[in-house]
Parts: sequence; C-alpha cells; structure tokens
Amino acid sequence: HRRERNIAAQVKNRLPQRMLDLLKEAGELGAEIGWEVYAVGGFVRDILLGRPNLDLDLVVEGDGITFAKRFAAKLGGRVKAHSKFKTAVVILDDGQRVDVATARLEYYEYPAALPTVELSSIKMDLYRRDFTVNALALRINPGRYGQLVDFFGAERDIRNRTIRVLHSLSFVEDPTRILRAIRFERRFDFQIGGQTMRLIKNALGLKLFSKLSGTRVMHELQSIMNEGDPLACLLRMQELGIMEAIHPLLSLDRERIQILTELVKVHNWYKLLYLDPAVVPWKLYILGMTAGIKRDEIGQVTGRLHFTQKEERDFLHLRDMIGEALMKLMGWKEGHSRLSRLYKILHPIPVEGILFLMARSRKEYIRRNISQYLARLQYVDIEVNGKDLKNIGIEPGPIYTTILDRLMTAKIDGRAETRHDQLNLAKKLNKELSASLESENGD
Ligand code: ATP
Repeated sequence: HRRERNIAAQVKNRLPQRMLDLLKEAGELGAEIGWEVYAVGGFVRDILLGRPNLDLDLVVEGDGITFAKRFAAKLGGRVKAHSKFKTAVVILDDGQRVDVATARLEYYEYPAALPTVELSSIKMDLYRRDFTVNALALRINPGRYGQLVDFFGAERDIRNRTIRVLHSLSFVEDPTRILRAIRFERRFDFQIGGQTMRLIKNALGLKLFSKLSGTRVMHELQSIMNEGDPLACLLRMQELGIMEAIHPLLSLDRERIQILTELVKVHNWYKLLYLDPAVVPWKLYILGMTAGIKRDEIGQVTGRLHFTQKEERDFLHLRDMIGEALMKLMGWKEGHSRLSRLYKILHPIPVEGILFLMARSRKEYIRRNISQYLARLQYVDIEVNGKDLKNIGIEPGPIYTTILDRLMTAKIDGRAETRHDQLNLAKKLNKELSASLESENGD
C-alpha cells in the first residue's frame, strides 16, 4: 500500500483561513454523506509550489451534483449543474467558486468465481489528466485530512521541476496538451521531461496539429497570452515548429519577435498603471504574431484559428486603423502639431491597437505622447453638455455636435480649460457657425 504523506501543515501555512474553512466544511460534508472528497489539480500543485491559487477543484467519490447542492445549502450559495458531465459549480454568497466533479465508483465484475473489485475511482479520475504535476489529490475528509494522494510521482517531478505526461498516448489523445506543457513549463520555469519531449516531437511528426480544430488551438493560445510571460511560450512554440504546424504564415521571424518583445514591455507598463479599459491580451499579441501578413492573406490565419465573423471583422478593422494611424503619426511633430490632432488619431482605436502603435513607434517622443494619451488624454472630458448649450440660447440641432467637438479640441489644446471658458467659446462658435451657415444659404 502506498504511503500518503500528510501536508496539513503546508496547507495551513499557505492558504487563507477562509479557504481552510471551506476545505474543512467540504470534508465534513463528505464524511456525513459517506463519500470521500478530494481537492485536486492545480490547487494542490500550487500548494506544493507555494504559489497562491484560490481556484478550488473538488472531486467526490460519489455524486458530485448532490454534493454540490448540499454544500451550497450548508454554506449559502447557488449551484450550476452540468448533468451530462456530472459536474457542478458552486458559487458561494461571497463570490468564491468551487468546482465539483464526480469520480464514480466503478465495479469490475470478473467472470466465474473471482470477486468483484472496486477500482479506486480517484485514480481513474487523475489518470485522465494531462501531467503528473496536475494529477495530485488531497484528502480532506476528517481523519485523513491533509493526506497527499500521489499515484504518478508528481511530488518527485515537482522537486525536479519536470513536466511529464502520465502515459505515452497522451498527446495523441489530445494534442492541445503540447501547448499546455509549454505553458506550464514556462510559467513555473520547469523543463519538459526527456521522454515527454520525444512524445511531443513524435506527435508533431505525425502532424497531429493539423487535425486540431481552430477553436481549440485558439483557446490554448488565449491561455498562453494570459500568462505573465507569453513571449517565452511563443518562442518555445517557434523553436519546436509549432507555429508553422498551426499555420505556415504564423512562423515567428526576427521582426515579429522584436515587435512581440516591445508589446510585452508596453503591456506590462500598462498593467502596472492599472489603467482602463482593460487590455484583452490575445487581441494585443495576435497583432504582433500576424505583423507583416498581407491583407489578402490574413483570412487564412483567421480561418485557421476559427475566428467568429465579428472577431474577424474587428481584427481586420483594427489592422486597417493601425495602418492609417501609423501614417498619420509620421506627420505628427511634437511642439509643432497640436495635441488634439494626436487625440483624433488615437481616439477611435481600441486600447490594444494603441499599445501596438506605441510598441511600433521608433521615435521616442511619439511613444511618450501616446503614453500621455493613455494615462491622461483619453479620459479628458469637457465641463459643458447639450443642456448647457440650450440654456445659453443656442438652437438645438446638428450644430451641437460640431460645437461640443470643438470645445473638446480646445480643452485638449489648453485653450478652454474651465466651464466658464467653454461656455464663452460655445457662444462665439455659435455666432461664427451660424453666420457661415447663413452665408452659405444666401449664396
Ligand atoms: P491554471 O493555473 O492555469 O488554472 P490548472 O491546472 O488549474 O492551471 P486548468 O486549465 O484550469 O488548469 O485545468 C484544470 C485541471 O484539468 C488541470 O489541472 C488538469 O489536470 C485538467 N486538464 C485541463 N485540460 C486538460 C487536458 N487538455 N487534458 C487533460 N487534463 C486537462
């Protein structure tokens, strides 16, 4: 019988009290119903690694949905059940989510006189997972609380900082695991194990990637873009020939690597400032990954990655806007050009596009001014609105848009900072615009 190490002390040291309470409650509920309950996957891995992870995944040797309902009733919360997969999500009243899965007890009936054996169902559940480091379980029922269930040598692999699959058909079963291997390897600064690396190369040799749906590739790519260091993963993918395997146009040349390097820098800068709106990482990095691809070829990539129609339309539009803005920015000279001109160039562009422009600009003063735009200019608002224009006697009509636009321009250029200045300017503009309209009509 395997010896199970007890890590209750580490669990206690590395998790907040609220999480410890949840584990205890879940274990006690399991004991009450008579089912064994485990915390599993990344949650357990990250306890051993000493990395905070509050995504709690439970596996119940029993019925996960029933367990989830009773857990929610006990602690206060609601349940979203997926009966097809026998899984459920509990959303507790404080917003904490707990995923619950079912490991069914399976009985193997042998013919003739041999007895029926009960296979440990947690072992079956863990065996379906991707890597040893993700195939750990932690007992939480009272009496066995804190015992680490490690069938596949995960602790040793964590100690040796190795990503290893559980069996040799793993990548054939699911080639997206290749991208997951790279993601975990780079995130934890681990190494993909020797045999696992041979299996990856074998899977690539069998062209398993070409059979993979665009939706699944894109999903994994998005997870990669959400990592702290997406470029490290992309470079590893390039090194292994995975970019080409996804689509030949996606191969990373020096130019793209240089752009992606700059993108990571501006993205980190933006994250540090906690600015709004939030950046969607894949929308940013896909611009770098596809830099230099011609307009009539880009459809091959969006098609391969199975963009939705809207995603494709938005992406093409963004690329066009960036191209146009790059031209206009070449003519923008600090000290000579107005700030409002920069505002007009950048304002229609989503933040991912603006960060891309910043990363692409070679002139230091352009980068500096774009950063000014993101940090301050984009939020500028004027102190008067349509109601104010009405109150000072301006006849409502399309002229309002023109006047409010000009007030904004004036404010950005420092010519009408206060409400008072803006109202005066509005009156003046109204006179000028009305006069010019009249003269037009009189012609
Ligand atoms: P993260 O820290 O990125 O959330 P995680 O390990 O929790 O890491 P998830 O993608 O949330 O990763 O997956 C949860 C668990 O499901 C993993 O720990 C892994 O055991 C299992 N899993 C996810 N995807 C696969 C897959 N493609 N093949 C096998 N097992 C998988």
